[in-house]
Formats: sequence, structure tokens, C-alpha cells
Amino acid sequence: MTKYFDGSMVELEAKVAAQLSDYRFQHVLRVRDYACQLAKQYGVDMQKAEVAALVHDYAKERSDAEFLAVIQSRHLDPDLVNWGNYIWHGVVGAEMIQAELGIDDPEILAAVRQHTTGAGADMSLLSQVIFMADYLEIGRTFPGVETARAVTAQSLAAGVKYQIVHTVLHLVEKETPIYPKSITTYNYWLPRA
Ligand code: GDP
Ligand code: FE
Ligand code: FE
Ligand code: FE
Repeated sequence: MTKYFDGSMVELEAKVAAQLSDYRFQHVLRVRDYACQLAKQYGVDMQKAEVAALVHDYAKERSDAEFLAVIQSRHLDPDLVNWGNYIWHGVVGAEMIQAELGIDDPEILAAVRQHTTGAGADMSLLSQVIFMADYLEIGRTFPGVETARAVTAQSLAAGVKYQIVHTVLHLVEKETPIYPKSITTYNYWLPRA
């Protein structure tokens, strides 16, 4: 039994596996491992980190039509319709996780909502751990990942800053639209690490 899900961790794993391609499920398991390691180091509830990591990409393979239907039915921010799967799977995915898995812990749901863009002042240590574990899991191979891991091992806040600076740089480089929350994250963490 886990505290945050009505069932065992193995049952939760199976529910997540049923939603995802094997490729993405393996990513989720690596995020779980990295999140547990960071949670231990930074004093975050390990079981909470494990549950949040297991569900963070739960909705990633849902159709656009499903996300749009949930944005409507749950009266989420109407601006969400202007974005895509990369934003929806966290922000809208949290609603699906709550409805379908019965996970109600507000900090876990916030960590899922925030895992792609981060957040400003309302980013808990749990959210920071999930944001970093998703970026640093051992399957990640982008240039700078070793530096990012070393920075995060020294300071979780410095890791969050490293990630958001590099993600914003990367998005600008590709001339990709930047979700306003990503800018909020950037401005908040810049002077804090
Ligand atoms: P994943 O679900 O494990 O692949 O990882 P994430 O949920 O963290 O990221 C999904 C994608 O969204 C990645 O390719 C990020 O680079 C991208 N992303 C993050 N922030 C933004 C943003 O503000 N705007 C856009 N367009 N993409 C973003
Ligand atoms: Fe994701
Ligand atoms: Fe991420
Ligand atoms: Fe992920």
C-alpha cells in the first residue's frame, strides 16, 4: 500500500505502463530512480517522489482531442488551446491522473503540472526534484547533461536555474514559442542560485 495511491506501487507501475509505449515507460522508470536519489539527498518524502515520478508523463500519449475535451470540461485556462501536447501532458495530464488514478495529493499534482516548464515561487521541493529528475535521468544525453547533474548534486536550486536557462536558450535558438510559465520560472530562479 502507498499513502498517495489506493493500491501498491507495483499496481501503479502497471497502470502507467498500460498508458505508454515501452520506450516512454523506460524513461519513466529512470525518472523514478533519479527522483528517489534526489529526494533522499534533499529531504523530500521518497514515496511522494516515487509516485510523482511514475505518473509525470502518464498522459503523454493521449490524443490532442482528449486534451482539448478536458480543457473544456474542466474549465481550464482557455489559453491552453493555443499550445500543444508538450504543455498539455503535464497541465491537463494532472486532471487525468486525479480522475483516473485517484491521486489527490496537491503537491504531487502540482509537480506533474510543473514538470515541463517549472514554476516560480510556488514550486515545492518535490516539484523541483521531479523537474530535475526528468531532465537528468540516466538516459538523457544532451550536451551539458553531466554539468547539469554535477550542478544539481551541489544545489537543487542551481539545477533548476541551469535547466530553465538552457531550455529557454534552446527554445530561442530554435525560434520556438515559449510558454509564459517558462519565462516566470526563468525570472524567478535566475537570482536564486
Ligand atoms: P518529456 O515529457 O519527458 O519529454 O519532457 P518534458 O515534459 O520536460 O518536455 C517536453 C518538451 O517540451 C521538451 O521537448 C521541452 O524542450 C519542451 N518545452 C519545455 N518548455 C517549453 C516551452 O516553454 N515552450 C515550448 N514550445 N516547448 C517547451
Ligand atoms: Fe513530460
Ligand atoms: Fe522536464
Ligand atoms: Fe518525462
